[in-house]
Amino acid sequence: MHVDLEVVSAENPNPAFRRVVFTGEHIEPLLRAKAADAYVKLLFPGVTVRGDSAREKKDHKVKKAKKSEKSTSSHHGKPCTRSYTLAQIDPEARTVTVDFTRHDGGGAGYTWAAAARPGDTITSSLPRGSYSPGKGADAFFVVADTPGLPAARRVIAAAKKPERIRVIVDTTLSEEQLELPKKVHSVTIVDSSEKGSNTRSTESSSLLDALEAAKWPKGTVEIFARGEKTVTKRHIGRLARERGLDRSRASISGYWSAPRSS
Ligand SMILES: Cc1cc2nc3c(=O)[nH]c(=O)nc-3n(C[C@H](O)[C@H](O)[C@H](O)COP(=O)(O)OP(=O)(O)OC[C@H]3O[C@@H](n4cnc5c(N)ncnc54)[C@H](O)[C@@H]3O)c2cc1C
Repeated sequence: MHVDLEVVSAENPNPAFRRVVFTGEHIEPLLRAKAADAYVKLLFPGVTVRGDSAREKKDHKVKKAKKSEKSTSSHHGKPCTRSYTLAQIDPEARTVTVDFTRHDGGGAGYTWAAAARPGDTITSSLPRGSYSPGKGADAFFVVADTPGLPAARRVIAAAKKPERIRVIVDTTLSEEQLELPKKVHSVTIVDSSEKGSNTRSTESSSLLDALEAAKWPKGTVEIFARGEKTVTKRHIGRLARERGLDRSRASISGYWSAPRSS
C-alpha cells in the first residue's frame, strides 16, 4: 500500500536542510510509526536523473514488488525512490516532517525537495524501520553525518537516559542548529567539508577519527551510526568489532554513497 502526501510547508531552517511538512487523507500509517529510525521511501514520479541508471536498476525491484501491492497513488510514469527519515511525527496536526539534506549532487530527492511548494503531492511507502535504543547501556554513542541527523535526533528523543549519550556528528551545522531534542552527555561536531572531502575515502573519515579519539567508557557501550556508507559500514563497523561490541549493541547503517575519491 502507498500513501499520497501533500506538502503543507517547505522551508530552509538552516543551511544544511530543506524541511518539508506533509499531510494526507490516508496518512494514519505514517502517524503511527513507532520505530526510532522510522523512514519512508518517497517515489519521485517521472524524474530522470543523469547517472542514475544503477540506482534505477535497483529501484526496478521495488517497482516490481509495488505492482502487486494495493496503491492509493494516482501518479503515473516511472518514479525513482529515495529513503527519508520521518524527522517529526505530529498525530494531532496529522503531519509528518522530512528534513532533506541540501546537496549539489543533482539527485531526484533533493531536486524535488528544493522546488517543493505547498499543495505539491508525492507518493510515500508505508513506514519502515525497527530500531529502538537498547536498555541498560552505560554509554551510548550516536554517530551521524547530516543525512543521518534526523534519525539521530529521533533516537535521542526516544532514549530513556539521554545523559549517557555521546553525540558525534559530521556536519556544517552549529550545535544550536543540530536541534537535539534532549540534553546529552556530550556533543562533538566535526566538519569534513572543511577538508574539502565530500568524497569517500577508503582509509579514514572524520567521524571515525572522532569516535576513535573519544574516551571509551567502561561498562556496556552501544552505538547507533547513520551516514555515508563506507564511513559507517566499513570504518565504524570495523571499530565496533575491534572494541568488542556485541552485534545487538551496534546499529550501523549506510544512508548514502559519496562519490569515490580518485
Ligand atoms: C533509511 C534511510 C533514511 C534516510 N533518511 C534521510 C533523511 O532523513 N534526510 C536525508 O537528507 N537523507 C536521508 N537518507 C539518505 C538519502 O536517501 C540519500 O542521501 C539519497 O541518496 C538522496 O537522494 P538524491 O536523489 O538527493 O541524490 P542521489 O541521486 O542519490 O545522488 C546524486 C549525487 O548526490 C550525492 N549525494 C546524495 N546524497 C547526498 C548527501 N546527503 N550529501 C551530499 N551528496 C549527496 C551522491 O553521491 C551522488 O553523487 C536516508 C537513507 C536511508 C537508507
